[in-house]
Amino acid sequence: MARKCPACGIGSLFCGYLAVRPTCPACANENGQYPSDDFAPYVTIFLVLHLFMPPLIFADRTWEMSIWTEGAIALPLFSIITLIVLPVAKGGVIGFAWSQGVTRGNLP
Ligand SMILES: [Zn+2]
Repeated sequence: MARKCPACGIGSLFCGYLAVRPTCPACANENGQYPSDDFAPYVTIFLVLHLFMPPLIFADRTWEMSIWTEGAIALPLFSIITLIVLPVAKGGVIGFAWSQGVTRGNLP
């Protein structure tokens, strides 16, 4: 989740926002072999909605705001939070795949 190589914890896992560096520059571990295709966005959506929807519902019940005001606040906020959480979730999914020995070659 620290966006570092799961094998050594030193080398950078990504070479961009979400592009996985195929080989770790520090330990030469092949990080490109770990699948994270749709699971990272799923984890991101699950976390963001479950963590930030209750405050939005609380705000809706507490303050009288129009739907447009709520949308103007919530949509950019949720978008920014999602973009922050997505690479962390992707790193976590790759780290989990590394810890379980799951690679693209041995997927069930
Ligand atoms: Zn490494």
